[in-house]
Amino acid sequence: MHITSVTPVPVTVPSGREPMSFCFVRIETDTGLVGWGEACDSYGCSYAGVLSTIVTDAFTPLLVGQQLVAVGPLAARLRLSTRRRLGDQWVAVQARSAVEIALWDLVGQAAGLSITDVIGRVRDRVAIYASSTFLDEGPAEFHRDLAAPLIAQGVSMLKVRTGPDWKQDLRTLQTLRALIPDDVEFMVDGSETYTLPTALEIARRLADLGVRWFEEPVPQGNRAAIARLCAQSPVPIAYGEHLYGREDALDALATGGVTVLQPDASISGGITESREIANLAQYYGARVVPHVCAGPVSLAANLVLAGTVQAVRAVEYPLNLVPVWDELGVGGAFGLNAISEGTIEIPSRPGLGIALNEAAAAGRPYTPPGQRVAGTVGGLPDRFVGDR
Ligand SMILES: [Mg+2]
Repeated sequence: MHITSVTPVPVTVPSGREPMSFCFVRIETDTGLVGWGEACDSYGCSYAGVLSTIVTDAFTPLLVGQQLVAVGPLAARLRLSTRRRLGDQWVAVQARSAVEIALWDLVGQAAGLSITDVIGRVRDRVAIYASSTFLDEGPAEFHRDLAAPLIAQGVSMLKVRTGPDWKQDLRTLQTLRALIPDDVEFMVDGSETYTLPTALEIARRLADLGVRWFEEPVPQGNRAAIARLCAQSPVPIAYGEHLYGREDALDALATGGVTVLQPDASISGGITESREIANLAQYYGARVVPHVCAGPVSLAANLVLAGTVQAVRAVEYPLNLVPVWDELGVGGAFGLNAISEGTIEIPSRPGLGIALNEAAAAGRPYTPPGQRVAGTVGGLPDRFVGDR
């Protein structure tokens, strides 16, 4: 099987807040098989045009004409050929992740097996956790109603988000906690908003509410602050969606003391790299809960991670992305009806078990992020501005 083309497919889908973009990669071979990959830059893919350019300029020339038997040698070539100039973190790695996933999709399809079965399946279903919205978007009853359909399907983990108005957010959270059944675990995502003193104050309050992890409270680059926070916080601290490759993960685990790790196959270098990270986390006794916040191909890739690493406890399930998965995915059922007893199936069809709906994608052409006035996003307050 030889690679004949590598083509990025950037897409933009309107949403209630900012439009969400996605960056898929299509790899075609001389056998007629087509493989799909997808990159994520934490919340879909805001700069899908940038990622597309990296794929086209840096990775396509390294792959077209190459024989594909196994992913490893080609993935290593992509990394070694670009890391000194494009870097080993951020967009270059996100773009490389999409390409690596598409290569795995092809290897699986060629073998007539799911990627999970090629690597070694450890489970057929995995728990999901409901990943909900910012607490300042409505009163506690609003958040209860958002989560209700998933809790009715047996989901027993719920994550909400705090922003700059954290004192009000904590009041909402306290009310919400009382409205949700006791056996549902709560987690809180801080979206890199806080200084260390604020993060510690919030962590103490979250401990009183029984919250199981506090995610990205301080910016991911503030490694010294993360280490101090992990040492002092009464709730476990989670990082991962901004960690690239096993070196970053090892640093977070060994130096930072992070005890919940959230690798993402669409961010950290691909399926192989995210599995490495998950296994490292296991050695450090950390919980492994893959990050998911992109389109259907990215979800399927992270389900491979969940299906092949014993230590994975659950995968993220962002409520706002279900319509996108339904519209842009072909072959996989990831909507509410696919949730049973709080779990979702690890696909068993050949390759990823899902493909991009190319006709639907063609109807959603990519548009770059529009003009943003500092402090606001589309007229709404920007949440990523720090302590208030
Ligand atoms: Mg997060």
